[in-house]
Amino acid sequence: MDFLSIKDNFICIILYMISAVLFIMGIKKLGKADTARKGNLYSSVGMAVAVISVLISQDVIDGGIVGYGIIAAAVIAGTIVGFIWAKKVEMTGMPQLVALFNGFGGLSSMLVAISQYCALRGGSDRISTDAFTSITLGLTVVIGAVAFTGSLIAWGKLAGLKMFKKNISIPGKNMINAIILVIAVLGIVLYTISPDGGLGLAGILITTIASLVLGVTLVITIGGGDMPVIISFLNALSGLAAAFAGFPIGNTVLIVSGCLVGASGVILTLIMCKAMNKTFAALLFKTTKKKSAAVAGEHKEPKSMSVEDAYLILEAAKNVVIIPGYGMAVAQAQHAVKELTDVLMENGCEVNFAIHPVAGRMPGHMNVLLAEANVPYEQLKTSDEMNPQMSNVDVAIVIGANDVVNPAAINDESSPLYGMPIVNAYEARTVFVLKRGQGTGFSGIENPLFTMDNTVMIYGDAKQTVSQLVVEYENE
Ligand code: NDP
Repeated sequence: MDFLSIKDNFICIILYMISAVLFIMGIKKLGKADTARKGNLYSSVGMAVAVISVLISQDVIDGGIVGYGIIAAAVIAGTIVGFIWAKKVEMTGMPQLVALFNGFGGLSSMLVAISQYCALRGGSDRISTDAFTSITLGLTVVIGAVAFTGSLIAWGKLAGLKMFKKNISIPGKNMINAIILVIAVLGIVLYTISPDGGLGLAGILITTIASLVLGVTLVITIGGGDMPVIISFLNALSGLAAAFAGFPIGNTVLIVSGCLVGASGVILTLIMCKAMNKTFAALLFKTTKKKSAAVAGEHKEPKSMSVEDAYLILEAAKNVVIIPGYGMAVAQAQHAVKELTDVLMENGCEVNFAIHPVAGRMPGHMNVLLAEANVPYEQLKTSDEMNPQMSNVDVAIVIGANDVVNPAAINDESSPLYGMPIVNAYEARTVFVLKRGQGTGFSGIENPLFTMDNTVMIYGDAKQTVSQLVVEYENE
C-alpha cells in the first residue's frame, strides 16, 4: 500500500465515521416533530459526506476522469429528476412517492450487487470469491429485488391505480412464495459453488428474476389495514439490502446506514403490528377471507344533515372528539380544523383528537398535519387513550376517516379489517361523519358506522364543511 492509499484510507475512515454520526443524530432528531427538519438536514449532510468519501477513495481515483465524469453525470441526472419530482408532487401524493423512492433504494442495492458480480467476473476469467462475499452478494440481490418490486406494488396501491384497487388473491400463495424463495436461494447456491462461467451467470440471473417475482407475489395480496405494516417492512428490507451490499464492495458507511434504516424499519414494523393487534407472520402468510357481509348484503341509507343543523348540536356539546383520517389530508383541512377546535374551546367545550396509528397514508401522517396547524401536542391522544372515554363523548367528529372507525373490524369476522383496533367513534352519543359522498376507504369495504342510529353524515369537502362550521360560530 503506497503513501497515497494509506492517506486516502485514513481520510475515508474519518469521513465514514463523521457520516455515520450524522446519520445517527439525524434519526434521533427525526423522532420528534419539532426537530424533524434538523434531522433531515443532518442525514442529508451525512449522505453528502458519505458520497464525498467514496469519491476520494482509491477505486474511484483509479477510474480517472472517466470514472468521475460518469459519477457526475449520474449525480446531476438524479438531482434534476429528484428535485423536479419532489417539487411537483402534491402533499397527498407524498406516501406513494416515498414508497417509490424506497423501491429505488432496493433497486440500487440490487444493481450494486450485480455490477460487483460482473466486475469480479471481468477482473479475470476465473472468479475466486469467498463464500461470505457470494452469500452477501446473493442476499443483496434477493432483498433488494423484493424491496423494489414490492415497493412498486405498494406505490400502485397507494396511488389508487385501478389494477391494484381490488383485493387480489393468489390461490396457494404461501406455497408459491415458498417455491419462488427456494428457487432464488438455489440460484445463490449455484453461483457460490461455481462463480465463473455459464453456471455462475445463470445462478445470478435465476436469483434476480425469482426475487423480482417474489416481491410482487408477496405484496399484491396484501390490502386493507395490513398495508402500513408491509410498507414499513419494505422500508426495513431496502435498508437491509443496502447493508448487505456494503459487504461485497467493502463499504463501511453503506453497512452502517443500511443497518440504521433496516433496524428502524424493523422497529416500526413491530410497532405497527402491535398497533394493529397482529403478528407479522399472521399478516404475511394469511390467506384472503370471504368478503364481508357488509359488502355483499343488505343496504341501509345513511342519514345526512346540513352544516347549520350540525352547528346547533355542536353548540350544546361539552365534550368533543375529533377523529381525523386520510380525507383531512386530501382536503388539507388541518388549519380549518384548528380554527374549529379554537371556537369550540372558546365555547367552553373540551376538545381532544383521537389519532389512529394507521390513519392517513403514512405513519404519523395525522400528527404531522396537526402539528403543522399548531394543534397542541397534549390534545393529540392515541385511540387507546380515547376509547375508554368514548361513551362520555357528546359529539365525535370523524373528518375524512373511514377504515379506522369501521366497527366491522371488531364485530365482523369475515371483514378484511377484522382484528384491527379502531377508534370507537360509534360509542359516542352523536357521530358526525364529514366526507364527500359514498366513497369507501383504502380497504374498499363498506362502513356500518355510517348507517348507525347515532351517526349523521355531513357531505362535502372536509375543509369547506369545517370552515362553514367555524363561520356558524362566528355569526352566532
Ligand atoms: P380511509 O382511506 O379509510 O378513508 C378516507 C375517507 O376520506 C374516504 O372514505 C373518503 O370518502 C374521504 N375523503 C377523501 N377526500 C376527502 C375530502 N376532500 N373531504 C372529505 N372526505 C374526504 O382513511 P383512514 O385514515 O380512515 O384509514 C387509512 C387507511 O389507509 C387504512 O386502511 C390504512 O390501513 C391504510 N394505509 C395507511 C397507511 C399509513 O401508514 N397510515 C399506509 C398505507 C395504507 P369520500 O370519497 O366519500 O369523500
